[in-house]
Amino acid sequence: MTSLSKLPIRDDLRGRSPYGAPQRPVPVALNVNENTHPVPEDVAADIVARVAAAVGGVNRYPDREFTELRTAFARYLGHDLTAENIWAANGSNEVLQHILQAFGGPGRTLLGYAPTYSMYPLLASGTGTAYVAGARDADYELSPETAVAELREHDPDIVILCSPNNPTGTPLGLETIEAVYDATPGIVVVDEAYAEFMPDGVPSALTLLPGRPRLLVSRTMSKAFAFAGARVGYLAADPAVIDALRLVRLPYHLSALTQAAALGAVAHSDEMLATVGDIRHQRDRLVTELARLGYTPHRSGSNFVLFGGVDDPHATFEALAERGILIRDVGIPHHLRVTAGTEAETTAFLEALAALGRPAQDDAVADDAPDRVRNAPVDSDA
Ligand SMILES: *Cc1c(COP(=O)(O)O)cnc(C)c1O
Repeated sequence: MTSLSKLPIRDDLRGRSPYGAPQRPVPVALNVNENTHPVPEDVAADIVARVAAAVGGVNRYPDREFTELRTAFARYLGHDLTAENIWAANGSNEVLQHILQAFGGPGRTLLGYAPTYSMYPLLASGTGTAYVAGARDADYELSPETAVAELREHDPDIVILCSPNNPTGTPLGLETIEAVYDATPGIVVVDEAYAEFMPDGVPSALTLLPGRPRLLVSRTMSKAFAFAGARVGYLAADPAVIDALRLVRLPYHLSALTQAAALGAVAHSDEMLATVGDIRHQRDRLVTELARLGYTPHRSGSNFVLFGGVDDPHATFEALAERGILIRDVGIPHHLRVTAGTEAETTAFLEALAALGRPAQDDAVADDAPDRVRNAPVDSDA
């Protein structure tokens, strides 16, 4: 066997690390922001029946245009969207890759606002797109002024806004998205992977789509929909954007089995999303209880909480893992991230953390997230 460094690999991939959230078999996995509730049994039975029916036809290629699924996503999203506005792929990561293949590439630049989703730079490098990390405001917020100032400085071809932001949980105001859109002639992507966990009544970037043909809003079934293992993500945009994505997708990229399974899940969206209220409640409980334990949780509109005040994140991560509880060290000094699980899982986490002892007091362990967090190292997060 040879080694990676001896292969004639592309120069721009040399020395890179792959996405690598630890996958360890533990009883309480609160590390990659999945919905930890299983798919309801009757929904699972319907999905199995639909997949079984699809197996009967797998000697043929699937519908390349996945029209039925696009129609179902359009209906689910509402906002007067139709199938012509919808794209889908094997996870929203593949949707983002299609966007970079179509609108990025050599000589072009993607701007994200750090710390943010660790896959953005990886997807950029895979498509030969340069990635620049812009700064946020204090507490990981992103004001229109800061977002636009970074945009002016870096002059990117594509801007990606994660709303709410992973790994910080920070919700993003529509005014920032509007300001970014108005300030660039390029593509503006809003990654709404966690949209379903936002409080009721908070508008989605979908409301901004009319009249903004360069605005793309991506969603996923991996989080609220409890469908991470099926690998389905989707996007809403102007039909011309969908035409652009058709140019780069592989033929028949969504298998007949994936289409059948996703159609089953969307058909039961009310049941699939029935746990969202409870997960939000557990998230709010995490914020309250982490503060009571002496940590500094950050505002979250998602299904996870980033908290500071951790003396030694690696040690705390390992101590919890020893107790069968997996959370996430995202590489932000003195911080850890935890997914809101079921009530029992969330309780197990809070009790185990409390048993590790109180964190050091404020003056001993400053929540040292700098005001401007441009270079905060973020290893990987889902
Ligand atoms: C989890 C996550 C996704 C979802 O990725 P899939 O490929 O759909 O599983 C996308 N964006 C962000 C910010 C995420 O945290």
